[in-house]
Amino acid sequence: MGLLEDLGSAVGSANVLTGADMARYARDWMGRYEGQPVAVIRPGSTAEVAACVKIAAQHSLPIVPISGNTGLVGGTMTRGGLLLTLERMNRIREVKRDAKLVIAEAGVILTRLHEAAEKEGLYFPLWFGARGSAMLGGVLSTNAGGSNVLRYGSTRGLCLGLEVVLPDGRVLNRMSELHKDNSGYDLKNIFIGAEGTLGIITAAVMKLVPAPKAHATATLAARSLPDALTLLNRMQEATGNRVEAFEFMPRTYSERLREARPDLGLPFDHIPDVTILIESATTVPHEATPDANGDIPLVLTLETILAEMMDAGLITDAILARSEQQRRAMWARREAAAEIGVGLHPEVDTDVCLPLDKVDTFLTRAIAKLETLDPGARTITVAHLGDGNLHFTAYPTRDDKQLKDQVLEAIEDVVADLGGSFSAEHGVGLSKLSSMKRRKDPVALDVMRTLKQALDPKNLMNPGKVIPG
Ligand SMILES: Cc1cc2nc3c(=O)[nH]c(=O)nc-3n(C[C@H](O)[C@H](O)[C@H](O)COP(=O)(O)OP(=O)(O)OC[C@H]3O[C@@H](n4cnc5c(N)ncnc54)[C@H](O)[C@@H]3O)c2cc1C
Repeated sequence: MGLLEDLGSAVGSANVLTGADMARYARDWMGRYEGQPVAVIRPGSTAEVAACVKIAAQHSLPIVPISGNTGLVGGTMTRGGLLLTLERMNRIREVKRDAKLVIAEAGVILTRLHEAAEKEGLYFPLWFGARGSAMLGGVLSTNAGGSNVLRYGSTRGLCLGLEVVLPDGRVLNRMSELHKDNSGYDLKNIFIGAEGTLGIITAAVMKLVPAPKAHATATLAARSLPDALTLLNRMQEATGNRVEAFEFMPRTYSERLREARPDLGLPFDHIPDVTILIESATTVPHEATPDANGDIPLVLTLETILAEMMDAGLITDAILARSEQQRRAMWARREAAAEIGVGLHPEVDTDVCLPLDKVDTFLTRAIAKLETLDPGARTITVAHLGDGNLHFTAYPTRDDKQLKDQVLEAIEDVVADLGGSFSAEHGVGLSKLSSMKRRKDPVALDVMRTLKQALDPKNLMNPGKVIPG
């Protein structure tokens, strides 16, 4: 039989898409990458995924997993390979309230995990703008971060167990519910963050936490980034490390937000250099229950710290969210980040991580270097400041490849000099291959190649991504 017949017999011919039916899978979210898959296949079970992987191997065809297609680095691009979507594998098998975990298939969309956890009084603490489309398999494969990493860690830290179809079609069942298991190598961690280059994740066991009973959320203007860090540390001390999000929007971000999304408004009547969105949460009843004046004690804690810092001149303005609606409005301004950059060209997009006390120095040095290389170039930054992760985008004055490469290298030089990483949360995909080649420790790259060769000797599993050729 031919390829399409083989695939049809494995997953049903209605689940083998070709021609125009493939369009929405072949193009990435930002429209930066346009692929040409041979077919899009939609398996509905782990056994069907395994059958598809075996068929791809028999036909010597690359196979590329795709989940929500919200990735920003071209990880799902293929020309001449098969795209395997996990969208039909969307069952939440079980939520275990007492053990605080959820067992789910890889095609479950994050918001569905949030809703399923909420029904049991629990919370799945992976939260970012694309949560309405991104799927469990995709967030595991990119080790996604988001706004709550400060408190709960990134996806890797939330995963207890994993099921993976290996490049030879065998199923690795590590669906452990254990918090401790020292019986040899922790194999699941090899697949988390591998961006589909080592196998296809089909299911996972994820941790849940008690649902917050109250939030304290504020938008504020700080005098400087070091002063903002002081606020973070004071709030962590006052709440026992329960700050969930600490997001930084510099002047450049607010200016672009005003331009691109005037409907969202700006918090202050002027644009400060440093705007911070801080959020803390509590599950403790007495911190969450309104007092005689109707004030929530956790909110009062934040209010007191903000007032003290305003008296000291470290904070110049602050607004507390007094309702869920106000809280959502604050988050909408932050979550418009991916959208407000669309249409701005040319761009040099980075996703870097710095030690928390070096973020300020990074921005000063990177902007100075840019000014020397390309006077008049602009930047827009938005950051998960609480974990040192900056989305720093430079907009050169002309679309010149050599100039863009110089800008990227200059930014990476500053990052490396300050002990940072050129890739914090979006993965490597195709976009960051040159940075991998330049910046990753050659021994680490060698170990990665050895692993890839051992598991995928024919190089058919999402080839050409993550590891530079
Ligand atoms: C508006 C917006 C905001 C975002 N904010 C954040 C943020 O705050 N933090 C953050 O970390 N990221 C963020 N992202 C990017 C983020 O990486 C992705 O949204 C998400 O992690 C990818 O999930 P996905 O299901 O869309 O995966 P896809 O885009 O479909 O795939 C991503 C990669 O994983 C591989 N893959 C997909 N499924 C599987 C599988 N089952 N097994 C093996 N490999 C697989 C793909 O081949 C690809 O390489 C944002 C994106 C957008 C559009």
